Amino acid sequence: MAGSIDDMNTTTRAKLITAGLLAAAVSVLPACSTQVSGTAVEPAAAAPATTTAAAPYSNPVPETTAPRMKPIVAPEYEELANTVDEAAEWFANFWVANQGGPLGVDIVQFDRIEGAPCLPDNGVSVNSAWICPNDPVKRSIAVYLPNTQKYVWEKGGESAVFWLVGHEASHYGLVDLDLSVDTGGNLEELRATCGAGSFVATVARERGLDAEAELNNADKALRFVEETDALKDGANMKYEACTTYVHPSMR
Ligand SMILES: [Zn+2]
Repeated sequence: MAGSIDDMNTTTRAKLITAGLLAAAVSVLPACSTQVSGTAVEPAAAAPATTTAAAPYSNPVPETTAPRMKPIVAPEYEELANTVDEAAEWFANFWVANQGGPLGVDIVQFDRIEGAPCLPDNGVSVNSAWICPNDPVKRSIAVYLPNTQKYVWEKGGESAVFWLVGHEASHYGLVDLDLSVDTGGNLEELRATCGAGSFVATVARERGLDAEAELNNADKALRFVEETDALKDGANMKYEACTTYVHPSMR
């Protein structure tokens, strides 16, 4: 999990991740969201039905045009939440461009810890975000805004949020590309940060930004030199190559 990063020291850390991924085709409330008391999730305005003569009990909204779920967050987190959404959208597009199809990951942002989805059983006070790897219905990334603001946004700004999203999304994406990535522990964490580096650098160039500056800003939210290495190594690698990335200290 990125953003919290205390996990680099724990060997049994729950495999939870951080980021926000726009799901290109999300049709229902995220599976975890029903547990998010205090952070009600409401659907965006329904997309107009594209079929005009649907059968009485059929779903009038095709799955591929379903509206995204947008969490309600406190005003002080609104800018951050919008940035998470933006990063998630960039990652979704990055994935489609590289892999040819949607990643199919949904992001759940919330501003109160009570009832948060698939809460890690340790370190809830420092984790910024995590994934819900055992969710049988949907692949979700939970972003806890107060910690993300403190540990990511206030340290590295937008660049760090893009790193966070890229890291968490890569816990799903890299495993999709190669199941052997699903090791848990520091190896998988560094591979996810490698993927984030590839993402941040690629997107920075597409946005006309200075990739090196973006990486340096993102690095401000990282706490371990191994993470910095993985981020910057990934920036010079094809995304897929991060499935086999091994930091020199682990060789
Ligand atoms: Zn992680």
